[in-house]
Amino acid sequence: LVVLSNVNKHFGALHVLQDVNLSIARGEVVVVIGPSGSGKSTLCRTINRLETVDSGTITIDGKELPSEGRELARLRADVGMVFQSFNLFAHKTVLQNVMLGQMKVRKTDQATAAKKAQALLDRVGVGTQADKYPAQLSGGQQQRVAIARALAMDPKVILFDEPTSALDPEMINEVLEVMQQLAAEGMTMVVVTHEMGFARSAANRVVFMADGKIVEEAQPEQFFSNPRSDRAKDFLSKIL
Ligand code: ATP
Ligand code: MG
Repeated sequence: LVVLSNVNKHFGALHVLQDVNLSIARGEVVVVIGPSGSGKSTLCRTINRLETVDSGTITIDGKELPSEGRELARLRADVGMVFQSFNLFAHKTVLQNVMLGQMKVRKTDQATAAKKAQALLDRVGVGTQADKYPAQLSGGQQQRVAIARALAMDPKVILFDEPTSALDPEMINEVLEVMQQLAAEGMTMVVVTHEMGFARSAANRVVFMADGKIVEEAQPEQFFSNPRSDRAKDFLSKIL
């Protein structure tokens, strides 16, 4: 569904993605882990062209992502994104946050968008918060709204960049449970996270990045019990 071929990206002299090759199948849950600065966020951002690449190709459902234009907006809408910092519109209600993209990008009418938004908010357990503003919600609730907003676009894949890192510990699980549920329902997901419990239980594959390269890819059981590379061994010894 998502294929990166020989993707290279520089920030000035820094070679932040080095010949990255990655294929994500429909329904697959890929957890990306690695040390700070290894390029995990940049990888996510290139997948939906929040960042351009210097060379290589990225295709989604067989179509190469153009670098700009209307076609990009349409293809980008197929890629949902959930950030560490929620990124909700502060001056819109929770319901409006989940309606906006549907109306703007998918050209859904207001009544249909509202109905779908309410159903999605119910699904992630914040249906009763629909008329509040983001600041009136807890972090865990806001992040679940952000997930509902991503789902509202009927994306083919959702990218999660450290979705629980900004949350107080007691709110992490309510967000992970929603993600766990999506994974079980067959959503294609790329998840950058330090939550190894989630990786073990939900991931089909773990991708370990270091210094802009994919150093190791394996099934979670194999990766956590028997990492092959020294970089991964070293990383795991620090976090587990
Ligand atoms: P973390 O775990 O801390 O989130 P990461 O693996 O997500 O790290 P990236 O955010 O992808 O890492 O950053 C990779 C490298 O690229 C880092 O050295 C970072 O400083 C650099 N970098 C990221 N964004 C930019 C930018 N817009 N301009 C210049 N350098 C950048
Ligand atoms: Mg990051």
